[in-house]
Amino acid sequence: MDHFETIRRRKDGSLLDISLTISPIRDANGQITGASKIARDITRQKSIEAEIRRANLDLEQFAFSASHDLQEPLRSVKIYSELLDRRYSDKLDAEAKEFLAFLRTGAVRMEALVTDLLTYSQVSRCEPASEATDSNEVLAETLDSLSDTIKENAASVTSDPLPLVQIQRTHLQQVFQNLIGNAIKYRTPHKRPTIKITGERSGHECKFPVSDDGIGIAPEYKETVFGLFKRLHTSAEYSGTGIGLAICQRIVDRYRGRIWVESEPGRGSTFRFTIPDSRDVDG
Ligand code: ADP
Repeated sequence: MDHFETIRRRKDGSLLDISLTISPIRDANGQITGASKIARDITRQKSIEAEIRRANLDLEQFAFSASHDLQEPLRSVKIYSELLDRRYSDKLDAEAKEFLAFLRTGAVRMEALVTDLLTYSQVSRCEPASEATDSNEVLAETLDSLSDTIKENAASVTSDPLPLVQIQRTHLQQVFQNLIGNAIKYRTPHKRPTIKITGERSGHECKFPVSDDGIGIAPEYKETVFGLFKRLHTSAEYSGTGIGLAICQRIVDRYRGRIWVESEPGRGSTFRFTIPDSRDVDG
């Protein structure tokens, strides 16, 4: 049986997209005596797909321009509120100082949001990987950049030898960084966080589990957490923008992989993501 999509011409000369399924017809002895051909008109489906692709591109362009253009005015707010604090602190009363502190906290939070949103919108701007990436090297670089956080939290981070994988180094690093960063951030209070990263090739894909013994995630939020700006806690409880897991999801989607979490509240979480071998990724 064969299945493929192709283009055919109508009698009036116009073109249409069709999906063809060809299957063999056998006689009583199992000998192939012919072929059956089923053609479905998928012109409408194709045009809807093209519309969705265009809409996604527009949205991505908007997110990129908005987050990029917001950086400049935001920088001014930060710089001038810092200057006010430094140069005029003695002329300000307690209430003015408190307002200024709010202003600076807001600007720092907005800066984090804008930076993360920019990273999110840039995921598909990066060229797909042409060579296999050594995930051991990428993990080592990631742990290096997280070394202060690891030390501050006295976290134990261990890993097994990891496979070669068909993904851009920066993409793999972003996924590791978000998952390991979260594993440390959402640690069980008063307990040394233990994080384990493993990886294995199974069939035509690589699978990477990242496990922690942190606070865990309730079953009803297992999918929600991957949404943009979705957080289960307030900024006062845990810092963050709610964009990290959405970035992971977007990166993994780009390689036609999957990401999901298995967790039990109070007993830790295991995030798993897969990256298929195929080089056939969305451009
Ligand atoms: P952020 O950490 O900036 O809030 P993320 O998108 O990285 O955003 O995560 C979304 C939410 O998922 C977090 O706010 C947190 O509630 C939950 N979460 C993510 N990772 C973990 C983890 N390892 N353990 C428990 N909860 C987690």
